[in-house]
Amino acid sequence: MDEIRLKALAKINLGLDVTGCRDDGYHLVRMIMQTIHLFDSVQMEKTAEPGIQLSTNIRFLPVDEHNIAYKAARLLIEEFELTQGIHIDIKKCIPVSAGMAGGSTDAAAVLYGMNLLYDLRLSQKQLAKRALTLGADVPYCLMRGTALAEGIGEKLTRLPAVPRCPVVIAKPGISVSTKWVYDRLSLNEQTRHPDIDQLITDIRQQDLHAIASHMGNILEEVTVKEYPVIAQIKESLMNYGALNAMMSGSGPTVFALFEERSTAKDAADALRASGLARHIYVTTVFNV
Ligand code: ATP
Repeated sequence: MDEIRLKALAKINLGLDVTGCRDDGYHLVRMIMQTIHLFDSVQMEKTAEPGIQLSTNIRFLPVDEHNIAYKAARLLIEEFELTQGIHIDIKKCIPVSAGMAGGSTDAAAVLYGMNLLYDLRLSQKQLAKRALTLGADVPYCLMRGTALAEGIGEKLTRLPAVPRCPVVIAKPGISVSTKWVYDRLSLNEQTRHPDIDQLITDIRQQDLHAIASHMGNILEEVTVKEYPVIAQIKESLMNYGALNAMMSGSGPTVFALFEERSTAKDAADALRASGLARHIYVTTVFNV
């Protein structure tokens, strides 16, 4: 095999709680992760000459060692002393700096693809170990589906797949740095934490309405305070029939769960007409 094309899936967080902070500054989280049918296309091709060539359709993205997909390739090339090189082409569809793990999922795709292309025979567990050195979300991006992520995001427990449902994704024309949001989060006795255990129960019971009603993201209070457009987008999606709408990760992307695809499409159309969001997609949850 000399070439491989993979779908690097975006994620949303049905629940996101922060329970503390480690001495090294990393936050301790409890998150319900869910992949969706929104993806970057990652094409990888072996090259005779050594080295990494990276190309992407997004002008402002780095194509050197500052791109996390490049780092993933370099990690395996160095560890396994690969003499051939690789060309990686990333067609990005996942909004950048959006709270959808766009970079992490590209890195996971490169690890997965190079393992096959170079016949490295790394197990899922061995890949996950290497993934974690690239970023806290990368192991989950390898796993995909519905999962509880704990620790700094790397302790993963597979959950039953959530009921298949339409999802609207809406990103306003602003970008938010994950670090900026976490740095501004202050936890005290008054902090209202989402009930992650209840969400897990709802998922086990396959109750979409209950899942929607218990969604919660502790980071909303930081990001929404700074960017009220997020609250406006949520309100619009709710007015047009969403079961619930919430910010994903550190934002600013909002996602909304729906029961019917036609309602989801109408809500997306209404949001387009409002001009509140720059990128709007109607998609579904992706289960493994
Ligand atoms: P998360 O949900 O994990 O917080 P995010 O969606 O907020 O991620 P990304 O889009 O993954 O953010 O990454 C944003 C930053 O990472 C940008 O500064 C971007 O330049 C850099 N970056 C490096 N490599 C990539 C990549 N392959 N795709 C997207 N961004 C990348």
